[in-house]
Amino acid sequence: MSEMTCARAQARLTALLDAELTERMSARLRAHLAECADCKRHWNELAAAREMAQAWTVEGGEVWEAVRQEIAPGDFSALMAEMAALRAALQDVRAEVAALRRELAARPAEPARRPSAPLFPVLPPEQSLLRIV
Ligand SMILES: [Zn+2]
Repeated sequence: MSEMTCARAQARLTALLDAELTERMSARLRAHLAECADCKRHWNELAAAREMAQAWTVEGGEVWEAVRQEIAPGDFSALMAEMAALRAALQDVRAEVAALRRELAARPAEPARRPSAPLFPVLPPEQSLLRIV
């Protein structure tokens, strides 16, 4: 029986994860993982990556199914038309922003101005809120 080296163990981790090893090989590999921190770390990383990939696959499938239910076949052309309209509107907004930027860049700096009206207008006595009744 060949010795279970780290290289041999790590080469078989994916097969262990996929349950493709014989029972005997699986038991030997698990025994090595129980004793070898380095291989155990590889195993944990592999298992975590696999778990994440499976979660994405499930989630992606659910999202796509939700999208398919959201868009009935007849709605598709309407949706595309709406997107084209939104794209055109966005181009208009961009053109407007560009024009405003040009205008702003061409405008000379204005001197700071005092407000022409006093901030707190003095009311005549009959309108004053402070009058004594
Ligand atoms: Zn090892």
